[in-house]
Amino acid sequence: SEKAPVDLHSCVEEAVQLLSLQRDKTQVTFTNAVPAELIAPGDSQRLIQVFINLLSNARDASPDGGDIRIEGYRHAGCACVAVTDDGPGIPPKDRERILEPFFTTKEPGEGTGLGLAMVYSIVEEHDGQLELVSPANPATGRGARFVVQLPLGLD
Ligand code: ADP
Ligand code: MG
Repeated sequence: SEKAPVDLHSCVEEAVQLLSLQRDKTQVTFTNAVPAELIAPGDSQRLIQVFINLLSNARDASPDGGDIRIEGYRHAGCACVAVTDDGPGIPPKDRERILEPFFTTKEPGEGTGLGLAMVYSIVEEHDGQLELVSPANPATGRGARFVVQLPLGLD
């Protein structure tokens, strides 16, 4: 697909705006802390889809009034975007299956199990990597963090 310089703050903002339009009984707060100058070569529509999928999973996992934080930084030649929630995290037995198409722990009709499979294939299209940190908060043993790492392609 077409690669052009993509402003990752704006992609995250589009995903946040879209999810904010949806009815949400959990009343989560999304904080977009991705710096405006974080740019990576990519397909902006596909990357917006990545963030929609990660943010909706984070929302689904969050307690009422939960905080979902989206951070961005450069590391090891990549632009990284990290989505962190304060939900229960992902148990070890599920960790190796979450990228499988149709793997879901949600009630029938609540989840298709395709969100993370799509995230993974889009990240692969960008020659990037997807990392999971769970628990995201070692002190509480809670939370999940998904980190999307996109090569800056400057070498
Ligand atoms: P779906 O959201 O339709 O279930 P996904 O592929 O998006 O499908 O996610 C697969 C599964 O991964 C979820 O059902 C859930 O068990 C787990 N998961 C994904 N994100 C999170 C998260 N932030 N916290 C806890 N579990 C998660
Ligand atoms: Mg999902």
